Amino acid sequence: MHQNSICTNNYNKTTKTIALITIAFSLTACNYMAIRPQSKTTNKEPLKVAVPTHQLNPKSRPPAKMKNLNFTTPAKYQGKTVYQIKPRNQEKVIALTVDDGPWTKTTSAMLDIFKQNNVKVTFFWVGNALQANPEIAKRVVAEGHAIGNHTWHHWYRNMDTTTAKSEIERTNDLIYKTTGVKTSFFRPPGGYLNNGLAAYAKNQQNSVVLWSVTSADTDPHAKPQAFVKNVLKGAKPGAIVLMHDGGGNRERTVKALPEIISGLKQQGYRFVTVPELLEMQ
Ligand SMILES: [Zn+2]
Repeated sequence: MHQNSICTNNYNKTTKTIALITIAFSLTACNYMAIRPQSKTTNKEPLKVAVPTHQLNPKSRPPAKMKNLNFTTPAKYQGKTVYQIKPRNQEKVIALTVDDGPWTKTTSAMLDIFKQNNVKVTFFWVGNALQANPEIAKRVVAEGHAIGNHTWHHWYRNMDTTTAKSEIERTNDLIYKTTGVKTSFFRPPGGYLNNGLAAYAKNQQNSVVLWSVTSADTDPHAKPQAFVKNVLKGAKPGAIVLMHDGGGNRERTVKALPEIISGLKQQGYRFVTVPELLEMQ
């Protein structure tokens, strides 16, 4: 329907030009909001123009959904550890999760694949990786993916409360400063639940999100096909799948990803983010 607004041939050139200028302004407004999420934008919405923006400039398409930058865990999962859920009616939903980024090259390559397939996932970010790659982080958020906290240093060792607090809050602060996102989803590095991190996160009413299926993409010897097989074999309604975009060379994960997505789609799965998944039980 929106194709009718500026793309019909009946419009004369002047009308088209005015429409394009209007669109250019509205795109600028959206992009400005995207990179300055903390700024008070008042109640004025950018002028709504029904436009097939992808036909104008595919690179400047505004983010689909900028309004929800708060990823809040449902009350029943606050202070809890979750591996998977049992969705109502056994609905075939699955949540892909991507850890240890943002990372140069691999994150962007994965974002391209997610976008082509219209798949939204959940990224668990490491603070020092985020510090190195803020622009990639902004793209992740602008493209509608959910965000969780994966500590600053990705340490496995035992931590006192002060250190655990610093690992988590320093990362939360940078996530907010970089993208405007607030999250109450936490994943402890290595899935360790007893080194002080999970205890701190639970105390803050976060949910501690582990996984029920691993791609095992950190195995240095496995081929991408093995990652595909691991995920497709382990898939169940309500599953949470572990994979990585950072913390090492993840080119094999990027290679496996299209087949992981198409295989799950063939099995009838629909992709949801972790925040969405936890609302489905
Ligand atoms: Zn990790």
